[in-house]
Amino acid sequence: MIIGSGIAGLSYALKVSESGSVAIITKKKDSESNTNYAQGGIAAVLSSDDSFELHIQDTLKAGDGLCNPEVVKKVVQAGPLEVEELIKIGVNFTRAKDELDLGREGGHSRKRVAHAADLTGKEIETALIQAVKSKKNIEMYEDHIAVDLITQHHLKGYQRKPGEKIKCWGAYVLDVKKGKVDKFLSRITLLATGGAGRIYQHTTNPDIATGDGIAMAYRAGARVANLEFIQFHPTSLFHPQGDSFLISEAVRGEGGKLRLTSGKIFMENYHPQKELAPRDVVARAIDAELKKSGDSCVYLDITHLDKEFIVRRFPNIFGRCLSLGIDITKDWIPVVPAAHYMCGGVVTNLEAETDIDNLYACGEVAMTGMHGANRLASNSLLEAVAYANFAAESSREKFGSDRSFDFPPIPDWSTKGVFDQKEWVIISHARQEIQSFMWNLVGIVRSNSRLEMAKARIDILLKEITEFYHKNPVTYEIIELRNISQVAEFVIRSALLRKESRGLHYNQDYPKKDDLNWKKDTVLFEVESEEQKELI
Ligand SMILES: Cc1cc2nc3c(=O)[nH]c(=O)nc-3n(C[C@H](O)[C@H](O)[C@H](O)COP(=O)(O)OP(=O)(O)OC[C@H]3O[C@@H](n4cnc5c(N)ncnc54)[C@H](O)[C@@H]3O)c2cc1C
Repeated sequence: MIIGSGIAGLSYALKVSESGSVAIITKKKDSESNTNYAQGGIAAVLSSDDSFELHIQDTLKAGDGLCNPEVVKKVVQAGPLEVEELIKIGVNFTRAKDELDLGREGGHSRKRVAHAADLTGKEIETALIQAVKSKKNIEMYEDHIAVDLITQHHLKGYQRKPGEKIKCWGAYVLDVKKGKVDKFLSRITLLATGGAGRIYQHTTNPDIATGDGIAMAYRAGARVANLEFIQFHPTSLFHPQGDSFLISEAVRGEGGKLRLTSGKIFMENYHPQKELAPRDVVARAIDAELKKSGDSCVYLDITHLDKEFIVRRFPNIFGRCLSLGIDITKDWIPVVPAAHYMCGGVVTNLEAETDIDNLYACGEVAMTGMHGANRLASNSLLEAVAYANFAAESSREKFGSDRSFDFPPIPDWSTKGVFDQKEWVIISHARQEIQSFMWNLVGIVRSNSRLEMAKARIDILLKEITEFYHKNPVTYEIIELRNISQVAEFVIRSALLRKESRGLHYNQDYPKKDDLNWKKDTVLFEVESEEQKELI
């Protein structure tokens, strides 16, 4: 069973479908995912003036000391083949003459980003869904939202033996249309639930990005890590009807300049690479300028480029802005930073295995060690597709040829003690409250006092939401709210733990990096016993 139908889940499905039957659970329509909104492209070594070593060095530099070099090497080396496979599946990357038209983005020392104009994610998602639909033994369950992973914790009267690892046998899943929770049993489960941008008020992520997989894995007993490292994209559209529409990094890659309302450029005051500095530097620079000026946004200017080129290279951005009255060939684009990418997640090894037996994780939900404290642009689609492959190889080995497998007696979903308290207004109110204080207190620039204020609020809300969840019938909204509140708490807790500034985490009370004490991951997990601690 695969939970999630973005690039990670779909790629894995295609790769394991030869070995067994596959169910894909997805909480909305099949294509609704962060993947579908990716614009810039996928990074890989694809030109003769590039090398694995250069891509590795760029990734390690962005990761600011916390990448796992072994993981970076494995993923970067897999890159060219993964892009080739996507092309074979039917992804139509933009070409210049006979070659891939490679873009360059912030932090990359070479042009290495394969893209399909500025709709790369949609092109990839569409091709993968088509390929998945052509396979007989893959079944897609739309409007099905996973509630919790099934482990020994759900077995009646079960006492885990000393030394026994937690095992996953599938998940309880709500059929949203029927309002009924079913158990989906599976020998191997893949978490591919994506990121958690929706814990913030301003985000480039679609509604589905509520951190469900991270919360589910933690509740089941897996480690989660590095959740303080949230990438804020420097340039999302600032417009009342813009819904944080992303203005891709590629716009700066093609020479876009950031300007204040007065027209003054400012990035040269912050970094030698100016507009092409790493994202955290650009986001903090904009944040600092906005705090100084009191303005609501800064502007991105590409009016010096040829009109025809702009329309051809950025059809999506051009069309969306024009629909809001902004002609990007003539007007500066109003932009602000917004939560964009979760670098942390469920801890995995090099094969995408989590701490829980038979549970894999890949894509944005996972913390593989690839991104460290800051993700290099366009490395996430690469990591997702490469890890889907690593996970598939390992799953096939684990699955083997043995088809006999007994599940323990797993109880049906219980609705005992649950009745509708008709207080559903609490849900929308609590969701907005969390998103608002996460934005104001746990945003781009943090401080101890703001983080402590946020911790006090989330502790109260988490308790109330958990009680509400246990007393009311389970619904789509309460499942997401429970996960949003848990992941928000992880982010705050991790940010409080890290007493330094590094990569995407900036705390003005500890403005310096402290390699001596903090060159390490921030790991969270629920310990049931000392024994379990040793097992993990
Ligand atoms: C606007 C935007 C632009 C981006 N541009 C780029 C780019 O140019 N290059 C790049 O490398 N990266 C980019 N990224 C990041 C990249 O798109 C994502 O990291 C990547 O697509 C994540 O893929 P995924 O498969 O892990 O998750 P997703 O694509 O987010 O898929 C998650 C899936 O899980 C499902 N799901 C979640 N919870 C549940 C649940 N409880 N039950 C059932 N289903 C569930 C969702 O419905 C969805 O189908 C961008 C992201 C955004 C938002």
